[in-house]
This record gives sequence, structure tokens and C-alpha cells, in this order.
Amino acid sequence: MSSDFSTRPTALITGASAGIGQATARWFWERGWNLVLWARRIDRLEELKRHLEQDHRAAGTGTGACIAIAEVDVRDRASVESAYGLLPEAWKPVQLLLNNAGLSQGLNAVHESDPEDVDRVLDTNIKGLLNVTRVVVPDMKKAGRGQVLHVSSTSGKETYPGGGVYCASKFGVEAIAKSMRQELLPFGVKVGTVSPGMVDTEFSLVRFKGDAERARSVYDGLEPLHAEDVAEVIGFMATRPDHVQIADILVMPKAQAGSGMVHRT
Ligand code: NAP
Repeated sequence: MSSDFSTRPTALITGASAGIGQATARWFWERGWNLVLWARRIDRLEELKRHLEQDHRAAGTGTGACIAIAEVDVRDRASVESAYGLLPEAWKPVQLLLNNAGLSQGLNAVHESDPEDVDRVLDTNIKGLLNVTRVVVPDMKKAGRGQVLHVSSTSGKETYPGGGVYCASKFGVEAIAKSMRQELLPFGVKVGTVSPGMVDTEFSLVRFKGDAERARSVYDGLEPLHAEDVAEVIGFMATRPDHVQIADILVMPKAQAGSGMVHRT
């Protein structure tokens, strides 16, 4: 661990092995933050850690920041508790918790929903987010500082046919964020959501269970957001002066005007 480790802010990012989480890890790393990166695919996290560290060596910047990775399934309370417990005390409280791990499954109408898909979505997007929040926030509250950002969605603002369960999960994330902001008000801990529209990540591939053609067609005729666009918004929210609390940023591609409204050429 480098000598100036403790002077650096630390970001704990769930779902850092792909998409928005991975791009956000890079955003903070390039600005000298320490990183705690969690996901189920540990090989992806190992590769990301290697790349980030190499980039700094190649650039000769050698920031002195540190990266801790762990194989965590946010649905598994024991896995979450153990990963946070194993983090050295010097890393706590983290400055930023980014609850990003999440997914959607299929596009079925609610009355035709697959119960296993429903479990996966609600267990990850809601209960997983709560599992992480429960272990990380008490240290922020004790220290009287810190920030929690939940990745919500346009689907946390409005519904669309076939999106009922995913929308329910993201409406739930918004409710959790609002309650948390009220609960943590006296304790100096800021809470917000970032709500993206369509982002070109592995999200659609996961939603359509590996059907690459169908996943690609989601973005036919429009330029979606890139993961880096969302990372920049998250970075902005996390680097405001201490007295500034951004409750929510809704960010969409130019070709989108709402959950189900896109303009294709
Ligand atoms: P992605 O590329 O599929 O990344 C999802 C990340 O979540 C992966 O790193 C995945 O890692 C992780 N994850 C999923 N289940 C997990 C679990 N049980 N435990 C731990 N990590 C888990 O998709 P993305 O677009 O970046 O999604 C990130 C967030 O943005 C999600 O909350 C999503 O709902 C939200 N969002 C996405 C879009 C979009 O259009 N892409 C729009 C609005 C909101 P492992 O598989 O390695 O565990």
C-alpha cells in the first residue's frame, strides 16, 4: 500500500466487471481514487485491475492509488458481508458507494413473467442493493461523511410494455434512495440516483440471454449512450463540493425522449 493511500478518496463499485461499472472504475482511477471493485466474474476484475495498473505505469504517472477486487454476488448476503469485512479498516468508510450491479431479464408481459427471471431481477436490483447498503453505510454514518449513488434508470421513472418487473425494481431503487436521503440527512451522508436511458453495454445481451442479434437490434438506427458517458455523470455527482447533494440525474441519448420513445433513422 502506498504512503499517500489514506489521503485519497475510495470508491466501492458493484458490478465493476462490465459496462457502466467498469467505465466508472476507470473514471475514478484516472483521477487518483482508490477502488474497491466487486462482481461475480473475478477473472474480468483481475483483467481490469491489471489494465488500470498497467495504464498508469505506461503513462509514468504511478498515482499510488490502490485497487481491491473481490468475487461478490450481491444477492448472497454472506458474500457481501465477507468481502466488506475483509477490506482493511484503513479503507473505511469509503467516500463513495456506487450500487450499480443490476440486470433485466426478457421482455415478457407481467402476467407471462418467468418466476426465475423475476427472482433474478428483484434479488439483484433490490435485495442485492440492500445487502451492500446495509454493510457499507453504517461506517459512513459513524464517520459523518460519504455518498451513496444508486444506478436507477429511465425505467425508474416510467413504464413500458414488457418492462414491468424491471421497472418495478428501478421504481423501488428510487424509493430506497429517497428514504435513505431522509434517514441519513442528520449524518452528513449524501444519497442520489443516476438514471440512464439506453446505454450500449452487455445489458441487452444479458436481458436476451446471450441472443447477440436481438441485443444488437435494440440500438438499430440510433446512437445509444456509451458507458463512459454515464461514468462521467457519476464522476460529476461524486466530485461536487461537500455541501452540494445531487439527488438525481436523468441522462438519455439524443435519440431518446423517454423509456419507450426513441427516434430511429
Ligand atoms: P452490464 O454491462 O451487463 O453490467 C452489469 C454489471 O452488473 C456486471 O458487471 C455484472 O457483473 C454485475 N452484476 C450483475 N448481477 C450481479 C450480481 N448478482 N452480483 C454482483 N454483480 C452483478 O450492464 P450495465 O448497463 O453496465 O448495467 C449497470 C447498471 O445500469 C444496472 O443496474 C442497470 O440496470 C443499469 N442501467 C442500464 C441501462 C442500459 O441501457 N445499459 C440503462 C439504465 C440503467 P458479473 O456478471 O460479473 O457479476
